[in-house]
Amino acid sequence: MLERLTAAARAVGERAEDELAGLGEDAAARRALDLLAEAGLVAWTVPAAHGGADAGPLAPAEEVSVRVLCALREQLAWHSGLMDVTFVMQGLGSYPLARSGSAALRAEYLRRVAGGERVAAFAVTEPGAGSSLGEVATTAVETGGGWRIDGRKAFITNAGVADFFTLLARTGGEPGDGCSDGLTMFLVPADAAGLQVERFEVSAPHPIGDLALDGVVVEDGARLGPVGGGLSLALSTLARFRTSVAAAATGFARRALFESVAHLRGREQFGRPLASFQALRFELAEMDTRLEAARLLVDEAARGVDGGSPATAAVARAKLFATETASWICDRAVQHHGGLGVRRGSVVERLFREARALRIYEGTSEIQKLILAKELLSAHDD
Ligand SMILES: Cc1cc2nc3c(=O)[nH]c(=O)nc-3n(C[C@H](O)[C@H](O)[C@H](O)COP(=O)(O)OP(=O)(O)OC[C@H]3O[C@@H](n4cnc5c(N)ncnc54)[C@H](O)[C@@H]3O)c2cc1C
Repeated sequence: MLERLTAAARAVGERAEDELAGLGEDAAARRALDLLAEAGLVAWTVPAAHGGADAGPLAPAEEVSVRVLCALREQLAWHSGLMDVTFVMQGLGSYPLARSGSAALRAEYLRRVAGGERVAAFAVTEPGAGSSLGEVATTAVETGGGWRIDGRKAFITNAGVADFFTLLARTGGEPGDGCSDGLTMFLVPADAAGLQVERFEVSAPHPIGDLALDGVVVEDGARLGPVGGGLSLALSTLARFRTSVAAAATGFARRALFESVAHLRGREQFGRPLASFQALRFELAEMDTRLEAARLLVDEAARGVDGGSPATAAVARAKLFATETASWICDRAVQHHGGLGVRRGSVVERLFREARALRIYEGTSEIQKLILAKELLSAHDD
């Protein structure tokens, strides 16, 4: 099954490289989603039980398969970072709904997400709450039969493109009070009165912006799970999808290595192909070894999560090593290309920019190290 899906992602990715070129960011994201939906790939971001694709033995019907997400993201990232992010946001943005939304809300949204007709986004980060989600200050206050939401969300992928946000807000306690039951998730439609999107650009093509929420009212039916269960829901969503960030990193890195090999074979200096110089040959070997190590870590983490284990250490290790390795490999590929490596529009220049943000979002490298160290230290206690 994974080979078939990888082949389908390759075909879509090849089309994307042609068809997305020259389109503006939002039009490219929309076209990317259409291509993914036509190929039936978006369906893999939603559990089969809620209208998504059936991963058979790879994952229970109530879950999305991390191995499938990883296989698809590695291939999509090889071709287009924008296509990769468009794909995964359908899952990340809708997973809190699949896990904890009411039957009516799931029925209204999830099949359409799986078909690419509704665009999802996940809104947890705030100006004062990044690595530490316990600092979330956006408030949701109960009104008769609903909730009034006020505050600000920052760095929200698909802001301006999405049809809805699964959003984390404070329903009790104080920012930074250390309590884990003060936050709740809600589904907020993008066209809700009082919600404004403020767009900005990041270093690689990626629709993103901040959200200003001023008296946004949602019904109680838009609540995702119990009051106070939001932090755990947001963290379990990130835990499910984090390994796939590592897989996307290996996709960027694999493409960068491919480009380096091609360039070093074709380019001559000092009367010989660059590939004949031992210093550069050693570097190719190093890139390949680190890449394959990263892929093995991704596979181990994905199997663990699909198998029902939190695989906390394996996931943190995969995210940390694969994203850091991808940045290093893309950097070496830029170096191998000389001036062409930094010329705007060259493949390796794009990969270098695409790979960078993966070390930051869904838990920075430092946060992965903290998670790993905690696991190591607590295992020592046993
Ligand atoms: C391209 C992109 C897309 C994103 N998309 C989304 C999205 O769709 N939805 C969403 O909710 N968020 C999104 N984010 C936000 C992202 O999750 C945060 O940027 C990330 O969690 C880091 O938070 P921060 O930027 O506030 O950095 P901070 O938390 O302020 O961290 C700054 C630096 O300090 C380090 N640091 C922090 N705490 C510690 C510590 N205890 N020990 C050691 N070092 C520490 C960090 O590792 C980092 O290097 C996105 C970000 C980017 C760049």
